[in-house]
Amino acid sequence: MGLFLQDEGPCGVHGIQRDIVRDRTWRCTLDKDLTYIDDLDIAKKRVLIRVDFNVPLDEKGNITDDTRIRSVLPTINYALDEGAKIILASHLGRPEGKRVPSLSLVPVAKRLSRLLEKEVKLAPDCIGPEVEKIVNEMKPGDIVLLENLRFHPEEEQNDDSFGEKLGRLADVYINDAFATAHRAHASNVAVTKYVDTVGAGFLMKKELTYFSRALENPVRPLVAIIGGKKISDKVGVLVSLCEKVDKLVIGGGMALTFFKALGYEIGTSFCEDQALDKANEVIKKARERKIKLFLPVDFVVADKFSPSAETKVVTYQEIPKDWMALDIGPATVTLFAEAIQNAKTIIWNGPMGVFEMDAFSRGTFAMVSNVANSYAMTIVGGGDTDVAVHRAGEYAKMSYISTGGGAFLDLLQGNDLPGIVALKKKAAKAAS
Ligand code: AMP
Repeated sequence: MGLFLQDEGPCGVHGIQRDIVRDRTWRCTLDKDLTYIDDLDIAKKRVLIRVDFNVPLDEKGNITDDTRIRSVLPTINYALDEGAKIILASHLGRPEGKRVPSLSLVPVAKRLSRLLEKEVKLAPDCIGPEVEKIVNEMKPGDIVLLENLRFHPEEEQNDDSFGEKLGRLADVYINDAFATAHRAHASNVAVTKYVDTVGAGFLMKKELTYFSRALENPVRPLVAIIGGKKISDKVGVLVSLCEKVDKLVIGGGMALTFFKALGYEIGTSFCEDQALDKANEVIKKARERKIKLFLPVDFVVADKFSPSAETKVVTYQEIPKDWMALDIGPATVTLFAEAIQNAKTIIWNGPMGVFEMDAFSRGTFAMVSNVANSYAMTIVGGGDTDVAVHRAGEYAKMSYISTGGGAFLDLLQGNDLPGIVALKKKAAKAAS
């Protein structure tokens, strides 16, 4: 529950207007030296906005969740109010440098047009003479969406000349694609060399500010809940969190790697044998820092990885040899609920079990409910956790759900995001 940020919704499309987005005094360490769209004069200018419209599609090409589109509406609406010519650029899926018709941004243009109640023209490509002609004929208040950036291999290669071709389309460049900011791609790094005026959008501001409130300047106790499968992906995050949090709660498949590292039988459970020493490193770090580390005390185990498997609940010492642990058990749900009970800030990434199968979803959904109903500022990041929260219908009770999985994890590790570094570099160069 958003005790400290009471007016915030999940994507905060409305909340952020009142709070962070329009509050020009809000600054955090992460966005130091960053210029935002409302610091710039964009009236009548061609404003290229890098957005992340990488939305999930079903087999028929229908958008199944438009959160990412809605999340950048504040920036687009601001640019519309200011009378800018708005050029939107995004990738969709993994076309691997080829034109893949099923990954065209056609459905996105339609959905955006419906959300804005305004025509959104889809350009046939994202660079080239035809696109330049369309852009040069735009009038203030017009919106053009460029076709999928990743139809060109140069995008992911951060190719300079591709960045220059994109830059040609703009007087002002705005990056509002937090979910892609951890990648050094042409549309968020190279392009910044070729546009004189650059800045960030309101979604970026919101992501950085919430992150900063949770980890740089948290109201304590600060509790991190980390789940999911692979410890190897998140070991940097876990070690870095040991420096910051008061309690660290570990669930999901990665907990099993911890139990194996501690010498327990884990049956046929998912385990990264090559990461056992990493699990020990996290345990050592937690001990050194004297933070409370919570691991599951019981599991739902299954005789096979299947929704129709035979299941039972066992303690962590009793996982049978040929069974696998696929969810946290009821005693763990209670333990983890107690661990977060007095938290004032909670940060959560990764499900507690194989929540995609009903039989192993209870731990994750119980955690969603406990986090949603806590009195803490709650920040959720990472694709799967986001899906679980939406599926449970609890998204309105979370203070903030990050739109970026990888970028969120990179920030948790203390890494710089190339998309943001590029904006800051450009601003520093312009100032010198
Ligand atoms: P990650 O991408 O590392 O956050 O992992 C997310 C995935 O972890 C989800 O698809 C879950 O199904 C999976 N997962 C969570 N708990 C377990 C578990 N105990 N065994 C196997 N997979 C799991």
